Amino acid sequence: MSLDPQTLRLDGIYQQRDPARFMQRIKLAAGALSSLQAEQIATLAERHAGGRLHLTTRGSIELHDLLAVDLPPLLAGLLAVGLSGRGACGGAVRGVACSTTFSPHYRECQALARRLHRYFTGNPRFEGLPKKFKIGVDGDRQGGRQLIQDCGLVFAGNNPEGESLWEVWCAGGLGREPRAAFLLRERVDETELLALLEGILTIYRARAAAGKRLKHVVAELGEPAFRAALAAATRPLPTPPPASGLGTVLGIPADEAPLLVSIFAGEVSAAALRQLAQLAGEYAGGVLLITADQDVALVASSEKARTALQQRLLLLGLGEEALPPQPVFRVCPGSHECKMGLAPTRDVARALLGALPPDAVTTSFAISGCPNSCSQPQLAAIGIVATRLEKDAQGGRSPRFDLYRRIDNGLGLRTASDIPLADLNMTVLRHRNSPAAPLP
Ligand code: SF4
Repeated sequence: MSLDPQTLRLDGIYQQRDPARFMQRIKLAAGALSSLQAEQIATLAERHAGGRLHLTTRGSIELHDLLAVDLPPLLAGLLAVGLSGRGACGGAVRGVACSTTFSPHYRECQALARRLHRYFTGNPRFEGLPKKFKIGVDGDRQGGRQLIQDCGLVFAGNNPEGESLWEVWCAGGLGREPRAAFLLRERVDETELLALLEGILTIYRARAAAGKRLKHVVAELGEPAFRAALAAATRPLPTPPPASGLGTVLGIPADEAPLLVSIFAGEVSAAALRQLAQLAGEYAGGVLLITADQDVALVASSEKARTALQQRLLLLGLGEEALPPQPVFRVCPGSHECKMGLAPTRDVARALLGALPPDAVTTSFAISGCPNSCSQPQLAAIGIVATRLEKDAQGGRSPRFDLYRRIDNGLGLRTASDIPLADLNMTVLRHRNSPAAPLP
């Protein structure tokens, strides 16, 4: 079967390193999925993807190593449970991320993220964009995730009618030219958001060259001219969207803290996902949540269910109490699967984890296999980015890395560059124990 990789992108499909293999990204609103959907994904992964899945930092799920013949039955299987990869890759509004930090305002964040996801997914007015457009919704500024979105929304309290207000951050992004989003507006009524986002997207589509992000448009125009253009482009929607009647929040039945199931480097087997789906069905309202750190969270439906769920997770060797505490490790697929990858990120992560002292459990790490920075290294305490390949003594090619450290509320700054693989762990340990000194 011959397929044009470019036209597949809008359906969430990328060609991998091996040009005969593909990755299917499944777009999940706010990282939430039902037990039924998770079981179906596990089945599809067993049939087509070697029984493996990858959880992303934006709450999506990826199936790797697919053959062209796998793609149609895989799509049919996803559609059967109300899922697809539409807009998960290519020039589209990507899956709307939700921080899943379970802050006091998580309910509002998830409800908004799901609503935005429904509005933008598959709508031709928001496809065929110059490049990707990322929206994220967060309960606070703590993790800095609003800084890396084309449009980042942060909960900002309630208006006198009790409706949510949002900060709107604009034109952020990582990649080869990281740029922190700027605060566009401070207390925007939720009812205004769709019109505002449409205005931003109108400017983006009209002014960005192919392959460029919103950050490039703002860099070229300057903030004041962008604001003026936005004021002209923002039109009230003809029919205000109705407020939801029964609520749209999944997986948060009470003020319960979630039980986190740590998934190393976001790599989970289909068998483990099926087990988690079944546990979610029995104890957590039938909902699984993919977190921004590539883990799975389950929120028990009652105190009794929580105790039972903890015990079941322990028996399966899953969950916080079953495993020794580990630092957060966000890891992209790197050269294991991604054709942009310069480094075997999971191997790098395992080697680093083995070299870390016990007190590193409180440090967050993120490793990206190329400067695209899909694991969000500039938001980790220590970020590691493979930047190039260099000939090594054995005649092969070995990756070099840059190191980033996040020292304030902004994006992490580069503190070391061009580190050979053999020196990486020592360099990380040295930098972790010394004051951060950004490179000029
Ligand atoms: S950071 Fe680079 S190597 Fe990693 S998944 Fe993204 S594009 Fe691929």
